[in-house]
Amino acid sequence: MRHNATTLLCLLAIVLFSSCSRGWSVGEKELIREGNSGIMRVTTIDNKTDSLLLRTASQPLTRREVGSKEFDMLAASLLATVNNPTNSGVGIAAPQVGILRRVVAVQRFDKEGEPFEIYINPEIISYGPEVTIGGEGCLSIPSLRGEVERATSIEIRWRDEKYKQHRERIDGFTAVIFQHEIDHLDGILYTDRAESVCRE
Ligand code: ZN
Repeated sequence: MRHNATTLLCLLAIVLFSSCSRGWSVGEKELIREGNSGIMRVTTIDNKTDSLLLRTASQPLTRREVGSKEFDMLAASLLATVNNPTNSGVGIAAPQVGILRRVVAVQRFDKEGEPFEIYINPEIISYGPEVTIGGEGCLSIPSLRGEVERATSIEIRWRDEKYKQHRERIDGFTAVIFQHEIDHLDGILYTDRAESVCRE
């Protein structure tokens, strides 16, 4: 009995230790290094393996992971991929390059110069009362567009590259992009929420 209790405690300690110190998996490191800070292949729903990955919830990034070379490479690859001249977008989430981690790149149409910015562990903490219906597409869902109802104003919380936490209210089209990208981190696609979907 005592032996069993000791074994259980050891197992619990191992589980707790591994969840606190979790680093990049071998597969994640390989994929990120293959991307080499440049354009990565975009996962799409018409590929069986990709479609399952796109439906899986992503894991948050720890301070140690954000401070790693792999994170810098992944962030650079997200920016390069969303700005690919032959297949560009206004936002991208890490699962769209095959990495199930909670990080997105969003084009800030509400800022001067409309820069793309990286958001780590982003969360929507409140929705404004007003909604709007607008057209959406997705790099992972080729040749389709849909009409989706979204909140026109949200409040988000996220961490920056120094792992500092921030909160901000976001309005308009940029708020729609955040809602679309944060959905990706929970395995949700815009087609789940669309009032209608049609071929482009
Ligand atoms: Zn998308």
